[in-house]
Amino acid sequence: MNVQSWYGLTGEIEVENDLWHLVRIGNVALNYPPIVNRILRRGLPRADRWRLSYLHEFGHFQTLPFALAHALFVVWDGRKRRSFTGWLMWLATLAVMHKAVWELTSEAYVVAADGAAYRQIYRNTPDRLLPIFWTVMGGLGIGLSGWLIRERRLVQPPHRL
Ligand SMILES: [Zn+2]
Repeated sequence: MNVQSWYGLTGEIEVENDLWHLVRIGNVALNYPPIVNRILRRGLPRADRWRLSYLHEFGHFQTLPFALAHALFVVWDGRKRRSFTGWLMWLATLAVMHKAVWELTSEAYVVAADGAAYRQIYRNTPDRLLPIFWTVMGGLGIGLSGWLIRERRLVQPPHRL
């Protein structure tokens, strides 16, 4: 299925194992397992699974600029690293943070696009992992962002007045 984002970028979303799977943004092919969809939609009826999974993957398109801007902000803020190992550690944390933030914004997009259906579907088929997803992704996204930014503040020389 071909899709177009609000900022003009086009892409393709493909069905795989009953779940929507983001495969291509612009000219970049992305191949990652639809982990979030697999976890959060596992107990849902087929039609609901498709609906929310598709919206989630489309949400990846729609929220890419925000997720990238957030990552770039953190990168810009932390561009002066102290040591190479510290830098590697920082980079790995950045990758996890970016993934968490992007999953969070994509799932938030599902709620924003079709909140009534979202609530109805999960009211019919409650999922204990749903609040855990929001808590863990939110915690990772916000917590790691804070850590990455604070980390740099700690290595800054004190200001002299
Ligand atoms: Zn996702």
